[in-house]
Amino acid sequence: MSAAVPGTVYLVGAGPGDPGLLTLRALELLASADVVLHDRLIPLEALDHVRPGAEVIDVGKKGGGDQVPQDVTEDLLVARARAGRSVVRLKGGDPFVFGRGGEEAQRCAAAGIPFEVVPGVTAAIAAAAYAGIPVTQRRVAAAVAFVTGHEDPEKPETQIDWAALAAFPGTLVFYMGVRQLPRIADQLIACGRPADQAVTVIERGTFADQREAHGTLATIARVAADVGVQAPAITVVGGVAAMARELEWLSAARPLTGVSVAVTRARAQASELAARLRALGAVVVEAPAIRIEPLDVVVPPLDQFDLICVTSPNGAEQLLARVHDARALAGPTIAAIGPGTARALRERGVEADIVPERAIAESLIETLREVPVKSVLVARAQDARDVLPDALRERGAEVTILPLYRTVAEPLTPAARAAALGADYATFTSASSARFFHEAAGTLSGPRLVSIGPVTSEALRALGSEPDVEAPVHTPDGLVDALLDDAAGRR
Ligand code: SAH
Repeated sequence: MSAAVPGTVYLVGAGPGDPGLLTLRALELLASADVVLHDRLIPLEALDHVRPGAEVIDVGKKGGGDQVPQDVTEDLLVARARAGRSVVRLKGGDPFVFGRGGEEAQRCAAAGIPFEVVPGVTAAIAAAAYAGIPVTQRRVAAAVAFVTGHEDPEKPETQIDWAALAAFPGTLVFYMGVRQLPRIADQLIACGRPADQAVTVIERGTFADQREAHGTLATIARVAADVGVQAPAITVVGGVAAMARELEWLSAARPLTGVSVAVTRARAQASELAARLRALGAVVVEAPAIRIEPLDVVVPPLDQFDLICVTSPNGAEQLLARVHDARALAGPTIAAIGPGTARALRERGVEADIVPERAIAESLIETLREVPVKSVLVARAQDARDVLPDALRERGAEVTILPLYRTVAEPLTPAARAAALGADYATFTSASSARFFHEAAGTLSGPRLVSIGPVTSEALRALGSEPDVEAPVHTPDGLVDALLDDAAGRR
């Protein structure tokens, strides 16, 4: 494994949609490439891994319509590589399965540009697997064929040998065949494939909103039309498709399938929570009504304090971004307000000495009761509560408040507002996210309100809304667990 090399083109498979199916090699190249040219149909999360400053170009089909012409894409690949840049060409699924990756490799070869191919998980196998269909199975299918269901308009009708396909001794998987589905089914029956053979069509396989249509060669066109199946979808024809019911596993792995959840936290922090919710099958609506704005403050010499309290993950990030000599942190006792903040510290190389289990100021005060303190630094948001500094002062400590950042309102687009208010749940990970969301949306009614803990719940109540769920563990994971319990109870 190694970083992308200047002047080299990488034809990289992004997998079918679930970001968990990206390969380690794909992530490594995305994180190091100078240029990323990507298709439309890739896991969006893949682009989160692109390094800041890299050039990202979308060469995908726009709304199923015009694609950047293939020769223009290839010209770009060659030009960027010739300019000495490392180029990732990120393609849905596998780059060499109906992806024109072969043509792009030929173009590189002809131009004398070094290239590497990173295979990806192809849609046929992945979508089928997520539908509970093994594409081969002892005694059912000893072979599998990947077939294009999209006739190249320039080819004569006879390019696909339907008689041979119908006679193929195994599973047939059609790519790009949604529009042609009735014709494909008819042709296969006409050429001798049994009309009662099982067929499953899988739309947006492995994405959070995967849908399926099950039928037989005789019925599938009607069933798919009833379900309203659209591209991208693959069609699996063969006895294995009949195993889908027996091997259905996705709904247990994704208990939030069909549930929409609005995430109101700042965009910079939302991704982890959003990813966790998506992995559970939820459709996530990102509605960041809040943004973190670092403040221009000078950090006093830290070794003069005997205790440093960090009261949020943002505080941890902002504080440590300003510490230029780690030795300054060697002396003071370090207290984090809760496990999330402790984790944010740990990710930056600092192990907190004190971490109460419940991430609220009152618990930290309780935990600090036995700790002798004279001089304390509280690193926090500008608009945070004064409960902790007040309690420490009451004990005779000298308290310095270091406001490192403030949270500011972020307007919501009308579409984001409508989607958030129409969601099944809205999640609030801080009092300020509740206040700013209310300000941006004008209301809190619609979704079930999930609060991370008592302080956030109090903020919701002050806005006139009783939270429907309050997480017993005041971390994003705790919030997700509480939401899961609630959703299970309502099922
Ligand atoms: N290189 C890709 C295929 C590109 S062709 C791969 O290896 O998967 C585009 C076709 O792939 C779509 O029309 C559809 O038939 C199929 N496809 C891609 N992603 C899909 C998905 N998530 N679910 C179902 N079909 C998908």
